Amino acid sequence: MLTMGIDIGSTTSKCVLLENGTTVVGQALVKAGIGTDGPEEAWRQALSEAGASEGEIAFRMATGYGRARWPGADGEISELTAHAIGCRLLQPDARTVIDIGGQDAKVIVLSEDGRMDHFVMNDKCAAGTGRFLDVMAGILRLDLAELGDTAARGTNPAVISSTCTVFAESEVISQLAMGAAVPDVVAGICASVAVRVAALARRAGVRERVYMTGGVAWNEGVRRCLAQSLGVEVRRAQLPQLCGALGAAASAHQKVRRN
Ligand code: ADP
Repeated sequence: MLTMGIDIGSTTSKCVLLENGTTVVGQALVKAGIGTDGPEEAWRQALSEAGASEGEIAFRMATGYGRARWPGADGEISELTAHAIGCRLLQPDARTVIDIGGQDAKVIVLSEDGRMDHFVMNDKCAAGTGRFLDVMAGILRLDLAELGDTAARGTNPAVISSTCTVFAESEVISQLAMGAAVPDVVAGICASVAVRVAALARRAGVRERVYMTGGVAWNEGVRRCLAQSLGVEVRRAQLPQLCGALGAAASAHQKVRRN
């Protein structure tokens, strides 16, 4: 049985097609999120990768910020549930899931059997989210994928103390004007996100093992600082950016089986 999970985010649309609730047979990530044709493109790409036809999909489960507005869904689940299910499927030892996306950050604490015990999230402020990193990468004219390696070359991380992204932008520009090295500035930017998310995680109460999901999991600078700040190992989940879509596809499978 083929089920589909689609995660419509603020910056990206992700789709996973799952065979029998366990095997990924198609996946896609399109860099266009809510309010664009990104979701449409994502599920068509995943379908083509799976070599399947539309009629073979037993259930389409939507998640993510834009889930309620997507007309193609048969059902929807919250991003929290989707990331918890998706991450556990790939990382059965996960007890804490830290999901940092383009617009928010969430810390989900799981019971031993993988159910969500509780969560803490920040969806009020861009600092501590991917948006902050995107803005800073834009100022420095760096690709997002370069941030981690660049931060690793920093020897004296710049202190970015502003709690507001707009002020932090000015702070970064003035650090550069004062001659700070780019790797040090990038290390400071990654640390600034990590420190904010670590504060959320402490509020949630971290249980090991800890895994990162969401696009920011690709940023090694943030992952390293988060581990340092929390004093525990923080691993990047497999398919981190697809975890929400995967969880939605798995939940679709459960739903069809129950019915
Ligand atoms: P959303 O679901 O809100 O659209 P995602 O989970 O897709 O968010 O994550 C988007 C964020 O991931 C971006 O804001 C960016 O900061 C980060 N990101 C995406 N790809 C990479 C990459 N290759 N390296 C580092 N960071 C990345």
